Amino acid sequence: MDLRFTSEKDLQCKHCGFVKPRLDLYCYFLWEDGKWSDQRECAPNQAVPALVQYCPNCHRFYYIDAEAILIKNVNDYNWIEPVDYDVILPSIREYDNFDWSPVIEYNQRLMLMWAYNDKFYRSNSGDMPSEFDVKVAKWNLINLTQFYNDSIMICELLREAGLFEDCLKEAADAMVDEQSKAVLDRIVTLAKQEDKRPFKIAD
Ligand SMILES: [Zn+2]
Repeated sequence: MDLRFTSEKDLQCKHCGFVKPRLDLYCYFLWEDGKWSDQRECAPNQAVPALVQYCPNCHRFYYIDAEAILIKNVNDYNWIEPVDYDVILPSIREYDNFDWSPVIEYNQRLMLMWAYNDKFYRSNSGDMPSEFDVKVAKWNLINLTQFYNDSIMICELLREAGLFEDCLKEAADAMVDEQSKAVLDRIVTLAKQEDKRPFKIAD
């Protein structure tokens, strides 16, 4: 796989100036577990630097320019550190300090949803979300809905947020084609069972 950091300046903390050796990468690096209802799917050529980077020196977070989304170089694995839930979660404390563009906010919220689902539903770690984790996930999923016009994805986000009645209401009004109908039916079934877990759509 061809991946490398985008530029030296992305490695430098904007708070303390410390230059770290690795650029944090979003969590879909080397994903090989099919397609899921939260849109997580195999995307080996789309790995990107995490927009929010952790500074190991001052323990704060800063975000890198949107242009850094593009992978520009190749062949240096040493610069890559996959971002997982435990790294993303503390970064939400700094969200208010960031001047999000819609693209950045969408990306960040999508990664937070995926990282949460990876940790608590898709790994075999046995970790259970704390009350705080659940609260953050709900807040994040509700904010994510504004980025979708697609009823199915809105239903899915509402279900994963635990807003089952809102999910069922949205599903009742949804106009979907035959292929999407099966996915919507599954979302409805799970919402009726008050089940928040994402599910696999394809291998
Ligand atoms: Zn720093």
